Amino acid sequence: MLGHLTKHEGGATCKICGRVAQSGEQFHYITGLGEVCHRCGLDPVVCDLCGARVRRMTLTVLRGKSLCLNCYKKERESGEKRAVREVQAPDIGEALKIALENSPKGFRLIGLRLKTSSKASWQAEYEREDIYQMRCS
Ligand SMILES: [Zn+2]
Ligand SMILES: [Zn+2]
Repeated sequence: MLGHLTKHEGGATCKICGRVAQSGEQFHYITGLGEVCHRCGLDPVVCDLCGARVRRMTLTVLRGKSLCLNCYKKERESGEKRAVREVQAPDIGEALKIALENSPKGFRLIGLRLKTSSKASWQAEYEREDIYQMRCS
């Protein structure tokens, strides 16, 4: 099961202090940021929008902003949830490479298809990372 609290067999690296998880140690997964160790997860941080002091583990990083749970709920409802980019490539392998390299910030590639009546124009579809994770967890 995917959740905000994940147990690892070791190997995860804390995005804040760089510590590597020991076997069985709890790391927190922060959407938009990555994994942080328990100690960094407990650190007080300030929400970029409302200025509330919260623990880092309750943050969600969205479009480069660190948001507390309340602000995240508000932000989630606003803004683009999907993005589409056009890719020029001779085959799907190349198209995939370009599509991944050109992912908009905070978005994840979810689909790639050849445009109708074209041999080298592809349509790459992206979904906002937080929405993607909500759907998949
Ligand atoms: Zn840490
Ligand atoms: Zn806030």
